[in-house]
Order: sequence, then structure tokens, then C-alpha cells
Amino acid sequence: MRIVLLGPPGAGKGTYASYFKKKYCIPHISTGDIFRAEIAKNTELGRRIKEYIEKGLLVPDEIVIEVVKQRLSQPDCEKGFILDGFPRTIAQAKALDKITKIDAAIHLYVPMEVAVDRLSNRYICPKCGRIYNLKFMPPKNDLVCDDDGTPLIRRKDDEPEVIRKRYEIYYQTFQPIIDFYKEKDILIEFDNTVGSEVGIPMLEKILIEKNILKIEPCNPSVSIQ
Ligand code: ADP
Repeated sequence: MRIVLLGPPGAGKGTYASYFKKKYCIPHISTGDIFRAEIAKNTELGRRIKEYIEKGLLVPDEIVIEVVKQRLSQPDCEKGFILDGFPRTIAQAKALDKITKIDAAIHLYVPMEVAVDRLSNRYICPKCGRIYNLKFMPPKNDLVCDDDGTPLIRRKDDEPEVIRKRYEIYYQTFQPIIDFYKEKDILIEFDNTVGSEVGIPMLEKILIEKNILKIEPCNPSVSIQ
């Protein structure tokens, strides 16, 4: 199951990726996460990457492609993987084609206002980092953390206007990639307005029927979180 996962903020990419990762024991590979880890470890690569990210620039294709190539050659990728945040340019998409055969690109999406509604209800405890959602997982008492009583805050990123901007930027960047996979006829469009609890089993069924998901679960009873 070699998958590219595409989707705007608020679509539920993290929840889907984490479910398939746990149930089928395949890695969720996010280039953003790899880069942050390299920077935190202060490796040679991390120091090079940091210069671009700090300036708000994309990391050059040659570097990203080499990092992904290395990662995909690790033994834990043999049964499959979920790529997230890569490819981000057409050059990366073409390079990926040379590295391995992708079985499907999944475009997981929700309309912009659904994304705004979901993300703008997200609050976080600044002390312990616990995340709440005022609609789906509200704190027991008004806007304070259940664990330590600290007043909850909303990240700047999760304010409605900022979410709309992030959503638009997502498509400015990734629409060419979505089109690339559509032309290759391996794009699966999946609307997650139904929510992950309903959507995940639906998508899983589609992937099995299309013979994209052929591996047996390593943990059959994973819950959707
Ligand atoms: P965001 O795209 O929201 O900034 P990410 O976690 O995907 O967050 O990535 C963090 C940063 O790492 C990006 O802003 C970019 O500079 C760099 N990056 C991640 N993936 C790629 C990629 N595929 N190509 C180029 N740069 C990337």
C-alpha cells in the first residue's frame, strides 16, 4: 500500500494516517516532520535545511528527493507507506515515480467552511499541551484544562481568517500535484465531511476493493482517534 496522502488543513489527514499506520504497521512519512527532527538533532542536513525553512522557503528539490529516497529504502517501508507533504512540486512527483511505484494518491478533503468550523473549535492547554475541540471533545468546565485547570488558548493558526488563508495556500501549492495524479489515473478523491469515524472505514473498504490495500492488519482492532 504505497500511498501519497493529499489534503488541506482540517480534512483529517493526521487521523487517517495514524489509523492506517497503527492498523497495518506501515510508516507515516512526513517530510515536514523529518526536517524538524533533523533540525532538532542539529545534523549537517538539519543545518542546511534550517536556512530555507527559517526564510519561509521550500527546501530545494534535490535535498528533499534524496531524503525521501533514503527513507523509502528503509526496511519498514517494504509493505508500504503513507507519504505526507511530499511530493510538493512536479519535479518531486516525477522523481518519486522513478524511486518507486505509487499505488494511489488520496485527496482527502472537506469544503473550506467545514475546515474552518473544525479547526477554529480546537483549543489547547498551554501548560500540558492537551488538545480539546469545543464541539467533539470539550473540556468539562468552560475553557479550562481538565487536568490542570489552566485557561485554554486557541493557536493563531486556528483562527478562522488564518485557516482560510492556509486552506487557499494549500491548493495553490498542491493543486498541480492533485492534477498530476489525476492524469496518471491513480487519484482517489474522498470527501471527509462525514467525519473520520464514518469516513475511515469507508475509505478502507474502497482501498481493499480497488486492490490497493492488500496487506493484513498487524493490529486488527485499532480505534479511530
Ligand atoms: P507547512 O507546509 O505547513 O509549512 P510542513 O510540516 O509540511 O508544514 O513543512 C514544514 C516546512 O518544511 C515547509 O514549510 C517547507 O519549508 C519544508 N518542506 C516540507 N516538505 C517539503 C517538500 N516536499 N518540499 C520542499 N520543502 C518541504
